[in-house]
Amino acid sequence: MRRGKQHPITVFIIALFCIGLITCASNSTRNQQKKSDIHMTDLPRRHDEAKKLAKELKKKGISDKRVLTAIGNIPRHSFIDAQLSAYAYEDRPLPIESGQTISQPFTVAWQTQLLQLKPGEKVLEIGTGSGYQAAVLCEMEAEVYSIERYYNLYESAKETLNKLGYYPNLFFGDGFEGLPEHAPFDKILITAAPEKIPEKLLQQLRIGGWMVAPVGGRAGQKMTVIRRISENEFKESEHGDFIFVPMQEGTVK
Ligand code: SAH
Repeated sequence: MRRGKQHPITVFIIALFCIGLITCASNSTRNQQKKSDIHMTDLPRRHDEAKKLAKELKKKGISDKRVLTAIGNIPRHSFIDAQLSAYAYEDRPLPIESGQTISQPFTVAWQTQLLQLKPGEKVLEIGTGSGYQAAVLCEMEAEVYSIERYYNLYESAKETLNKLGYYPNLFFGDGFEGLPEHAPFDKILITAAPEKIPEKLLQQLRIGGWMVAPVGGRAGQKMTVIRRISENEFKESEHGDFIFVPMQEGTVK
Protein backbone atom coordinates (compact mmCIF):
# COMPACT_ATOMS: atom_id res chain seq x y z
CA MET A 1 0.00 0.00 0.00
CA ARG A 2 1.48 3.39 -0.97
CA ARG A 3 0.50 6.03 1.55
CA GLY A 4 3.65 8.09 1.26
CA LYS A 5 4.04 11.86 0.76
CA GLN A 6 1.79 13.69 -1.77
CA HIS A 7 3.42 14.84 -5.02
CA PRO A 8 4.19 18.65 -4.84
CA ILE A 9 1.85 19.32 -7.82
CA THR A 10 -1.03 17.56 -5.98
CA VAL A 11 -0.34 19.69 -2.89
CA PHE A 12 -0.35 22.84 -5.07
CA ILE A 13 -3.69 21.89 -6.68
CA ILE A 14 -5.27 21.16 -3.27
CA ALA A 15 -4.01 24.54 -1.96
CA LEU A 16 -5.50 26.36 -4.99
CA PHE A 17 -8.83 24.59 -4.45
CA CYS A 18 -8.90 25.65 -0.77
CA ILE A 19 -8.12 29.30 -1.62
CA GLY A 20 -10.95 29.20 -4.19
CA LEU A 21 -13.40 27.88 -1.60
CA ILE A 22 -12.44 30.57 0.93
CA THR A 23 -12.83 33.34 -1.69
CA CYS A 24 -16.29 32.09 -2.74
CA ALA A 25 -17.40 31.89 0.88
CA SER A 26 -16.28 35.44 1.65
CA ASN A 27 -17.99 36.77 -1.52
CA SER A 28 -21.25 35.19 -0.56
CA THR A 29 -20.92 36.60 2.98
CA ARG A 30 -20.37 40.02 1.42
CA ASN A 31 -23.52 39.63 -0.72
CA GLN A 32 -25.53 38.55 2.29
CA GLN A 33 -24.06 41.46 4.20
CA LYS A 34 -25.33 43.85 1.49
CA LYS A 35 -28.82 42.35 1.70
CA SER A 36 -28.90 42.55 5.47
CA ASP A 37 -27.68 46.17 5.25
CA ILE A 38 -30.68 46.90 3.06
CA HIS A 39 -32.92 45.59 5.79
CA MET A 40 -31.03 47.23 8.65
CA THR A 41 -33.86 49.73 8.87
CA ASP A 42 -36.35 46.95 8.46
CA LEU A 43 -37.33 44.66 11.30
CA PRO A 44 -38.53 41.18 10.32
CA ARG A 45 -42.02 42.27 11.35
CA ARG A 46 -41.93 45.06 8.74
CA HIS A 47 -40.77 42.60 6.10
CA ASP A 48 -43.83 40.47 6.88
CA GLU A 49 -45.98 43.57 6.62
CA ALA A 50 -44.67 44.30 3.11
CA LYS A 51 -45.53 40.73 2.08
CA LYS A 52 -48.99 41.13 3.60
CA LEU A 53 -49.48 44.38 1.68
CA ALA A 54 -48.57 42.58 -1.56
CA LYS A 55 -51.17 39.88 -0.76
CA GLU A 56 -53.80 42.55 -0.11
CA LEU A 57 -53.03 44.18 -3.48
CA LYS A 58 -53.37 40.80 -5.19
CA LYS A 59 -56.85 40.45 -3.68
CA LYS A 60 -57.69 43.95 -4.93
CA GLY A 61 -56.90 42.94 -8.52
CA ILE A 62 -53.15 43.33 -9.12
CA SER A 63 -52.13 40.25 -11.08
CA ASP A 64 -48.58 41.04 -12.27
CA LYS A 65 -46.41 38.79 -10.09
CA ARG A 66 -43.27 40.86 -10.63
CA VAL A 67 -45.06 43.95 -9.33
CA LEU A 68 -46.32 42.06 -6.27
CA THR A 69 -42.85 40.63 -5.58
CA ALA A 70 -41.32 44.12 -5.81
CA ILE A 71 -43.87 45.54 -3.35
CA GLY A 72 -43.29 42.60 -1.00
CA ASN A 73 -39.54 43.32 -1.01
CA ILE A 74 -39.55 47.07 -0.35
CA PRO A 75 -39.50 48.57 3.16
CA ARG A 76 -42.10 51.31 2.50
CA HIS A 77 -41.62 52.72 6.02
CA SER A 78 -38.13 53.87 4.97
CA PHE A 79 -39.73 56.35 2.52
CA ILE A 80 -41.91 58.19 5.02
CA ASP A 81 -41.57 60.21 8.20
CA ALA A 82 -40.89 58.02 11.26
CA GLN A 83 -44.02 59.45 12.92
CA LEU A 84 -46.19 57.88 10.21
CA SER A 85 -44.34 54.59 10.29
CA ALA A 86 -47.28 52.72 11.85
CA TYR A 87 -49.32 53.35 8.67
CA ALA A 88 -46.54 52.49 6.19
CA TYR A 89 -48.02 49.16 5.13
CA GLU A 90 -51.64 50.24 4.95
CA ASP A 91 -53.02 50.70 1.47
CA ARG A 92 -53.26 54.46 1.59
CA PRO A 93 -51.38 57.53 0.44
CA LEU A 94 -49.36 59.40 3.08
CA PRO A 95 -47.98 62.94 3.26
CA ILE A 96 -44.31 63.60 2.54
CA GLU A 97 -42.43 66.92 2.63
CA SER A 98 -43.38 70.02 0.59
CA GLY A 99 -47.11 69.19 0.67
CA GLN A 100 -46.66 66.16 -1.62
CA THR A 101 -47.72 62.54 -1.11
CA ILE A 102 -46.35 59.04 -1.45
CA SER A 103 -49.01 57.38 -3.62
CA GLN A 104 -51.34 54.69 -2.32
CA PRO A 105 -49.67 51.27 -2.83
CA PHE A 106 -52.60 50.10 -5.00
CA THR A 107 -52.05 53.10 -7.30
CA VAL A 108 -48.30 52.42 -7.50
CA ALA A 109 -49.01 48.77 -8.32
CA TRP A 110 -51.73 49.66 -10.86
CA GLN A 111 -49.55 52.15 -12.73
CA THR A 112 -46.58 49.76 -12.71
CA GLN A 113 -48.75 46.90 -13.95
CA LEU A 114 -49.94 49.09 -16.83
CA LEU A 115 -46.30 49.73 -17.76
CA GLN A 116 -45.73 45.97 -18.37
CA LEU A 117 -42.03 46.48 -17.71
CA LYS A 118 -39.51 44.00 -19.00
CA PRO A 119 -36.08 43.72 -17.36
CA GLY A 120 -33.61 46.16 -18.90
CA GLU A 121 -36.25 48.52 -20.31
CA LYS A 122 -35.49 52.21 -20.03
CA VAL A 123 -38.18 54.00 -18.05
CA LEU A 124 -38.64 57.67 -17.17
CA GLU A 125 -40.62 58.56 -14.06
CA ILE A 126 -41.94 62.09 -13.58
CA GLY A 127 -42.29 62.94 -9.87
CA THR A 128 -39.69 61.07 -7.78
CA GLY A 129 -41.37 62.26 -4.54
CA SER A 130 -40.35 59.87 -1.75
CA GLY A 131 -38.54 57.55 -4.18
CA TYR A 132 -40.82 54.57 -3.42
CA GLN A 133 -42.11 54.17 -6.99
CA ALA A 134 -38.53 54.42 -8.27
CA ALA A 135 -37.59 51.57 -5.90
CA VAL A 136 -40.41 49.45 -7.39
CA LEU A 137 -39.04 50.13 -10.89
CA CYS A 138 -35.50 49.23 -9.75
CA GLU A 139 -36.77 45.99 -8.18
CA MET A 140 -38.23 45.15 -11.60
CA GLU A 141 -34.75 45.51 -13.12
CA ALA A 142 -35.58 48.49 -15.31
CA GLU A 143 -33.06 51.17 -16.23
CA VAL A 144 -34.65 53.94 -14.20
CA TYR A 145 -34.58 57.72 -14.77
CA SER A 146 -36.65 59.92 -12.47
CA ILE A 147 -37.20 63.69 -12.22
CA GLU A 148 -38.39 65.72 -9.21
CA ARG A 149 -39.15 69.49 -9.16
CA TYR A 150 -38.53 69.99 -5.39
CA TYR A 151 -34.82 70.00 -4.55
CA ASN A 152 -35.35 68.77 -0.97
CA LEU A 153 -37.42 65.79 -2.18
CA TYR A 154 -34.85 64.99 -4.87
CA GLU A 155 -32.11 64.97 -2.22
CA SER A 156 -33.92 62.92 0.40
CA ALA A 157 -35.19 60.38 -2.16
CA LYS A 158 -31.62 59.92 -3.37
CA GLU A 159 -30.37 59.34 0.16
CA THR A 160 -33.12 56.84 1.00
CA LEU A 161 -32.78 54.91 -2.26
CA ASN A 162 -28.99 54.68 -2.05
CA LYS A 163 -29.15 53.56 1.60
CA LEU A 164 -31.42 50.73 0.52
CA GLY A 165 -29.07 49.75 -2.32
CA TYR A 166 -31.06 51.24 -5.25
CA TYR A 167 -29.22 53.47 -7.73
CA PRO A 168 -31.66 54.96 -10.27
CA ASN A 169 -30.62 58.01 -12.32
CA LEU A 170 -32.20 60.89 -10.38
CA PHE A 171 -32.60 64.44 -11.65
CA PHE A 172 -33.73 67.72 -10.12
CA GLY A 173 -35.75 69.51 -12.80
CA ASP A 174 -39.08 70.17 -14.46
CA GLY A 175 -40.65 66.94 -15.66
CA PHE A 176 -42.55 68.79 -18.42
CA GLU A 177 -39.19 69.04 -20.19
CA GLY A 178 -38.37 65.34 -19.76
CA LEU A 179 -34.79 64.27 -20.43
CA PRO A 180 -34.25 64.76 -24.19
CA GLU A 181 -30.54 63.90 -23.79
CA HIS A 182 -31.47 60.40 -22.52
CA ALA A 183 -34.45 59.78 -24.86
CA PRO A 184 -35.97 57.68 -26.29
CA PHE A 185 -37.57 55.80 -23.40
CA ASP A 186 -39.37 52.46 -23.66
CA LYS A 187 -41.87 53.63 -21.06
CA ILE A 188 -42.76 56.89 -19.31
CA LEU A 189 -44.62 56.99 -16.00
CA ILE A 190 -46.12 60.22 -14.66
CA THR A 191 -46.93 60.17 -10.93
CA ALA A 192 -48.39 63.69 -10.68
CA ALA A 193 -51.46 64.84 -12.62
CA PRO A 194 -51.01 66.93 -15.79
CA GLU A 195 -54.19 68.60 -17.12
CA LYS A 196 -53.23 67.56 -20.64
CA ILE A 197 -50.79 64.96 -21.91
CA PRO A 198 -47.37 66.69 -22.01
CA GLU A 199 -46.38 66.92 -25.66
CA LYS A 200 -42.61 67.04 -25.09
CA LEU A 201 -42.77 63.76 -23.18
CA LEU A 202 -44.68 62.02 -25.98
CA GLN A 203 -41.81 62.95 -28.31
CA GLN A 204 -39.37 61.20 -25.93
CA LEU A 205 -41.14 57.83 -26.24
CA ARG A 206 -39.67 55.29 -28.58
CA ILE A 207 -42.00 54.05 -31.32
CA GLY A 208 -43.78 51.01 -29.84
CA GLY A 209 -43.33 52.37 -26.31
CA TRP A 210 -46.00 53.85 -24.05
CA MET A 211 -46.75 56.33 -21.31
CA VAL A 212 -48.92 55.86 -18.21
CA ALA A 213 -50.31 59.11 -16.82
CA PRO A 214 -53.20 60.31 -14.61
CA VAL A 215 -54.65 63.01 -16.84
CA GLY A 216 -57.09 65.66 -15.61
CA GLY A 217 -57.70 68.60 -13.26
CA ARG A 218 -57.89 68.79 -9.48
CA ALA A 219 -61.33 67.17 -9.34
CA GLY A 220 -59.91 63.84 -10.46
CA GLN A 221 -58.03 62.13 -13.25
CA LYS A 222 -58.34 59.25 -15.69
CA MET A 223 -55.44 56.82 -15.68
CA THR A 224 -54.44 56.99 -19.31
CA VAL A 225 -52.15 54.81 -21.40
CA ILE A 226 -50.80 56.46 -24.55
CA ARG A 227 -49.05 54.16 -27.03
CA ARG A 228 -46.74 55.52 -29.68
CA ILE A 229 -47.68 53.60 -32.80
CA SER A 230 -45.51 55.52 -35.26
CA GLU A 231 -43.66 58.84 -35.52
CA ASN A 232 -46.92 60.84 -35.43
CA GLU A 233 -49.54 58.31 -34.41
CA PHE A 234 -50.61 57.73 -30.78
CA LYS A 235 -53.37 55.56 -29.31
CA GLU A 236 -55.06 56.29 -25.98
CA SER A 237 -56.95 54.08 -23.53
CA GLU A 238 -58.37 54.80 -20.04
CA HIS A 239 -57.91 52.65 -16.95
CA GLY A 240 -59.90 54.02 -14.02
CA ASP A 241 -60.35 57.13 -11.89
CA PHE A 242 -57.68 58.42 -9.53
CA ILE A 243 -56.66 61.50 -7.57
CA PHE A 244 -53.05 62.73 -7.69
CA VAL A 245 -51.24 65.90 -6.68
CA PRO A 246 -51.04 68.23 -9.72
CA MET A 247 -48.07 68.21 -12.09
CA GLN A 248 -46.69 71.77 -11.87
CA GLU A 249 -44.32 73.70 -14.07
CA GLY A 250 -40.90 74.91 -12.92
CA THR A 251 -38.67 73.88 -10.04
CA VAL A 252 -38.41 74.79 -6.34
CA LYS A 253 -34.96 75.03 -4.74
N1 SAH B 1 -43.69 58.73 -7.27
C1 SAH B 1 -43.80 59.39 -5.98
C2 SAH B 1 -45.13 60.09 -5.88
C3 SAH B 1 -44.93 61.46 -5.44
S1 SAH B 1 -46.29 62.57 -5.63
C4 SAH B 1 -43.54 58.43 -4.84
O1 SAH B 1 -43.41 57.22 -5.06
O2 SAH B 1 -43.45 58.88 -3.71
C5 SAH B 1 -45.88 63.40 -7.15
C6 SAH B 1 -44.54 64.09 -7.19
O3 SAH B 1 -44.45 64.74 -8.46
C7 SAH B 1 -44.33 65.18 -6.15
O4 SAH B 1 -43.15 64.91 -5.45
C8 SAH B 1 -44.21 66.46 -6.97
O5 SAH B 1 -43.32 67.39 -6.42
C9 SAH B 1 -43.71 65.92 -8.29
N2 SAH B 1 -43.94 66.81 -9.44
C10 SAH B 1 -45.04 67.57 -9.73
N3 SAH B 1 -44.84 68.25 -10.88
C11 SAH B 1 -43.61 67.92 -11.33
C12 SAH B 1 -42.82 68.29 -12.44
N4 SAH B 1 -43.25 69.18 -13.36
N5 SAH B 1 -41.60 67.75 -12.58
C13 SAH B 1 -41.12 66.86 -11.69
N6 SAH B 1 -41.80 66.48 -10.59
C14 SAH B 1 -43.04 66.99 -10.40
